[in-house]
Parts: sequence; C-alpha cells; structure tokens
Amino acid sequence: MSAVLRRAIIAAARRMNELGINQGTSGNIGVRRRGGFLVTPSGMEYEHLKPSDIVAMDMDGNASGWRKPSSEWRIHRDILAARPEAGAVIHAHPPYATTLACLGRGIPSFHYMVAMAGGDSIRCAPYATFGTEALSKAALAALRGRRACLMANHGMVVFGRDLAHALRIALEVETLAGQYWRALQIGRPKLLSKAEMKRNVEKFKTYGVQPKRGRR
Ligand code: 13P
Ligand code: ZN
Repeated sequence: MSAVLRRAIIAAARRMNELGINQGTSGNIGVRRRGGFLVTPSGMEYEHLKPSDIVAMDMDGNASGWRKPSSEWRIHRDILAARPEAGAVIHAHPPYATTLACLGRGIPSFHYMVAMAGGDSIRCAPYATFGTEALSKAALAALRGRRACLMANHGMVVFGRDLAHALRIALEVETLAGQYWRALQIGRPKLLSKAEMKRNVEKFKTYGVQPKRGRR
C-alpha cells in the first residue's frame, strides 16, 4: 500500500511540473496515511525520485529513513492535523498565483470558480521565511474555511480529500490567477457579491458528485 502511495506522490509531483504549475525542485507534496503522512524529500529533482526517496513522518514531525523531508514538512503536518477532511496537500510555485502573491494579493470573487476553494476569496498569507513554523502558521490562518491560499512572495498551498482532488484544485487556482491577472490588464474585474458566492460555495458541495449506477 505504501509503495502504491509513494509512486502516486512521485507521479503527482512530475504531473504538477508537466502542467506548468510548478518548476524544478520547488513545491512539495504530502499525503496522509495511518499514523502520519508521506512527503516528498527536500530539494530533489522529481524526475529522478524513486519510491524509497519519499519520506515517512509521524504527526510529531519525526522522519524515518535517511532522506531529508521537504523543508515545508510542517505545513503538510499542520494542515493534516488541523483539517480532518484533508487527505493530500500540495505546495507549488505556479507562475500566475506566485505573481499575485509577490504583490501580496489574493484572488477576490471575480469568477464563480473561486468558490471551489471553499469561500468568497482565495487569501494571500503574509510572508514568512520558507520552511519555518511562522510560514506554516500564516498558511493555516489563510486557509481558514478554505482549501487553497497564496503565500506572499512565495507560491500557493492547497489541500484535497486525496491527491487527484488536490491536484485539480491546484490547477484551478492557477487558472483563476491567470484569468484574474489578464482581467486586471484591461480593466477592473466586476466582483460577485457575498450572497452569490455563498450560493456557489453551497453548489460546489455536490458539484461533480454523480449518482451511483442504478440508484436513480
Ligand atoms: P523542498 O525541496 O524542501 O520541498 O522545498 C521547496 C519549496 O518550495 C520550499 O518552500
Ligand atoms: Zn515553496
């Protein structure tokens, strides 16, 4: 089971680079498992990762094996500890989301898909040095009621119920960041109201949930 999960993490890490939502050894991925989580190793090219390079950690932050875990292991641990609905966490440095984050800007309700992240905006957490507890705290606060946030002068962090879900959210947040950036080039995007975004958040609770075969 662990080998399957380790391979899935490597595939997702390579996929985020192929999708253009991350590059080089930036970003990291963590996935919950019994008693703790698995996380990508620090500073290693995803292309060359082997299942044994993925690091197993417990919820106290103890790593087993000889690889150094991602410098952001605290973000993964803290999200998995604070948000029981989270099964997988993805941190990345996507071009548009990071551009907005470098201006300290989040993504407001300029498009209904912003509600996919759980609220009426995607916040930008204040800057803190990479790999610190301060950054993890800032990200966790910006994720209140949300499953995605930007991180000032750094990138984005998202979580999903599993790896595939987290990857979909990461890609959508970057798509939204690109759309918002484009809209800002030619005008002032019209924002949707809080009431409308509340409706959208509700609708996303069942969006994409198809009835089981033969139950209709
Ligand atoms: P790691 O290679 O240690 O995971 O760090 C990459 C990163 O994005 C730090 O914020
Ligand atoms: Zn980073």
